[in-house]
Amino acid sequence: MTEALKIPKLPGKKRREAKQAVQDALSDQRHFPCPSCGADLRFHPGEAQMVCTHCEARVPVPDVDDAAAHIEHDFHKFLKDDLKRPEIEVSALNCSTCGASVEFDPDEHSRTCPFCDSVIVADVSTQRKLVPQGLLPFGLMEKEAQAALRDWLSSRWLAPNDIEEESKADKFNGIYVPIWTYDSTTTTSYKGQRGRSVGSGKNRRTVWTNVSGTVTGSFDDVMVSGSASVSAEFKDALGPWPTHKLETYQTEFLAGFRAENHTVGLAEGFAQADRFMKVKITDWIRADIGGSRQRILSSSTSHANQTFKHILLPVWITHYSLDKKRYRLSVNGATGKVYGQRPFSMLKLFGASAGASGVMAVLGVMLSRAMGA
Ligand SMILES: [Zn+2]
Ligand SMILES: [Zn+2]
Repeated sequence: MTEALKIPKLPGKKRREAKQAVQDALSDQRHFPCPSCGADLRFHPGEAQMVCTHCEARVPVPDVDDAAAHIEHDFHKFLKDDLKRPEIEVSALNCSTCGASVEFDPDEHSRTCPFCDSVIVADVSTQRKLVPQGLLPFGLMEKEAQAALRDWLSSRWLAPNDIEEESKADKFNGIYVPIWTYDSTTTTSYKGQRGRSVGSGKNRRTVWTNVSGTVTGSFDDVMVSGSASVSAEFKDALGPWPTHKLETYQTEFLAGFRAENHTVGLAEGFAQADRFMKVKITDWIRADIGGSRQRILSSSTSHANQTFKHILLPVWITHYSLDKKRYRLSVNGATGKVYGQRPFSMLKLFGASAGASGVMAVLGVMLSRAMGA
């Protein structure tokens, strides 16, 4: 898990802080031996306990107040302090195909990326390890994720029959993916023009009037993926997430599961949240300008009360092969919502088109199926 921990030569308080950070990293282990037989305990989804993989002994996850999971941290203060934190080397499997960085488990023989299913080589990456404050624990067991997938497939009548068999055979990986959430109060001053139509028929035209103003608003928990890998699609595709059920981060919840390391930093994540906010702010400006048409000539936004949370969300992932291609299916580990890359059965497609009004109808179905969640 963690290795080659270095404590820089620092005086007094800084040295103690560095030691604490190293201690935190060392205690960040995923292995919990069974008190009866010594085998590994594994977190039991849906229950606040771990179960022994060998003798089925049960050990409760310590009951910790979930307040820490919901704390909003000051964005600017954290960024400033972050520079003072010692760097900790974390062993990670870095996938060059999809960009995911997944915790490295020396006991594990499989060296395939759980996200894109390609073979990867272990390499040690150095990053400022930021321990998440909270997570949404897995609520679905692997067999429940499989059942959710079967339901989903059977409701997709264009999906080839053999996927169901295939997806049963493939193992599911249970993975926690990293997420940033941001809050901000925005004040935007703008200059623009309000358009109103005058005249009628051929003489109809728009008359523009210069306007300027200020719009304010607030954003709560804008979600940004902490990773640039394929897992970035999960937060929207598998949403909504019941984040009111967040628990304070404890490694017991991760026993037997894996976690993706965040590769998108705190500031970089805010830049993505800001792009989302800008779209909303543009709507606010247009509403503020009024009239039948609006032009925005310039705008400038300032942020206040910027806060963030760093959390993990649970996803079951599996892959299946069809015509020598690999496809990914994912299941929300908390709600059972399914998201999949979906091929089409040509046989079923032709069957469907036989009585229908030709090729365009089939194309329409294909498109809507391809777009549908
Ligand atoms: Zn045991
Ligand atoms: Zn990958």
